[in-house]
Amino acid sequence: MDCIFCAIKNGEIPSKKVYEDESVYAFRDINPQAPTHILVIPKEHIPSADAVTEKNADAVAKIFCAIPKIAAAEGLKNGYRLISNVGKDGCQSVPHLHFHILGGIQLPEKMS
Ligand code: AMP
Repeated sequence: MDCIFCAIKNGEIPSKKVYEDESVYAFRDINPQAPTHILVIPKEHIPSADAVTEKNADAVAKIFCAIPKIAAAEGLKNGYRLISNVGKDGCQSVPHLHFHILGGIQLPEKMS
């Protein structure tokens, strides 16, 4: 399968890894939109949040277990924003489920 995030978690494309366990991989976004900008992905290829089902829900739950650990390790004690873009209207550019962790600054209240 020709998926850039699958290639990243397989180590075929370099990334700045911040976290890894048996089902989750997290790395720094190549084009950061905040002082801390991390992408958290399931190792299993799931195209987007719109493709989450009872069958792959465990992989998604593991992501949500990893996120607080990553945030703590990054020192995001005042909070952060979690975003998952879905499909064309959601401006998803990589079709492998991922959650953006954005933080390290007081983020604007509204999205542009
Ligand atoms: P989205 O637009 O929500 O699908 O987010 C995709 C994100 O992946 C963007 O923020 C990109 O900057 C990021 N990205 C794309 N290629 C890479 C890469 N090779 N390493 C790290 N981040 C990447």
